Amino acid sequence: MLGVDPTSVIDYALSTFVKSDSSTMLDVTPMTIQDHQREKAITKTLHEKLMTGGIDVLFQPIYDTSSKTFKKAEALARLYDPIYGPISPLEFIPIAERASLINLLSYSVIKTSLETLRCLEEHASTIETISINISGTQVGDISFPEHVVDLINMHGNDPGSLSFELTETVMVSHMQSLKDFASAFKAAGITLTLDDFGTGVSNIESVLSGLFETIKFDGNIFHDLTRNRTGSSAIRHLIALFKSLGIRTTIEGIETKEQKDSAIGAGADELQGYFLAMPMTKEDLLALMMPASPDDSKDEL
Ligand code: C2E
Ligand code: MG
Ligand code: MG
Repeated sequence: MLGVDPTSVIDYALSTFVKSDSSTMLDVTPMTIQDHQREKAITKTLHEKLMTGGIDVLFQPIYDTSSKTFKKAEALARLYDPIYGPISPLEFIPIAERASLINLLSYSVIKTSLETLRCLEEHASTIETISINISGTQVGDISFPEHVVDLINMHGNDPGSLSFELTETVMVSHMQSLKDFASAFKAAGITLTLDDFGTGVSNIESVLSGLFETIKFDGNIFHDLTRNRTGSSAIRHLIALFKSLGIRTTIEGIETKEQKDSAIGAGADELQGYFLAMPMTKEDLLALMMPASPDDSKDEL
């Protein structure tokens, strides 16, 4: 293990070790060393980004089916590593959690989102809300909502213009801390969204807890279920039930016109996906939100 600190490799192997039914052995292989080196490099890049200009953020507009306009956008963090190239958030978010950089990362995404909201307001854009993903590890940390409120006050934005997205896996493991956390946000006028609905271990208490203003269906689950009549009917009823409880529904992963029509037919309030709009830079978002000139014959989405 030339040039490699064995203790730090073992620490890394332990931090990423997932105990399965078939194995309780910690396996340290040459692959573990490579992965550890990759994680070290990505952590360094993340740290540098957060200490300098902040993490890059793209915004994906979310289509409102009633007004037929984009009323929300989701902030999606991006990272480019000089050695490894573009890194997916699915890889760098867990790394930020392990390196205790996740709050800093979120604060950076929030600041960029608040600035973007101000610019959208100046452009008289239809987008009123930006939703920001947060990790399960942040849910127990009550200082997080407090700091978010400070950031909003510092920027002078309306707290209702931010929404935070949490995935289902968080619900099951931290229900009580989630309630405390959500109450702190609710008191400040900030809404919560339940993300990737259908992919986690659903728990009726969390879904009907009243903590969420919006429930986002995972695109793959929605498309699989609506392939047959029983599934389509079940989804329609579920969306109607959410509506009766005052919960809005978003369908993610809309890639085709057929999927868009099917989601509207099911009663969805909001749609998100490449067919409607790709994740884009702040500048492209502002350009998209510029009022169309009279002869600008944009195809209806
Ligand atoms: P998510 O919150 O479910 O975000 C939606 C993901 O679907 C994004 O992937 C987006 O680029 C992608 N997507 C959008 N439209 C389509 C489509 O039509 N088809 C398909 N196949 N995919 C589509 P992305 O940007 O790679 O983000 C992956 C996940 O990383 C996010 O899933 C979210 O859980 C997490 N993430 C991103 N930014 C942050 C962040 O700032 N903080 C935290 N904690 N997590 C983040
Ligand atoms: Mg999300
Ligand atoms: Mg999602």
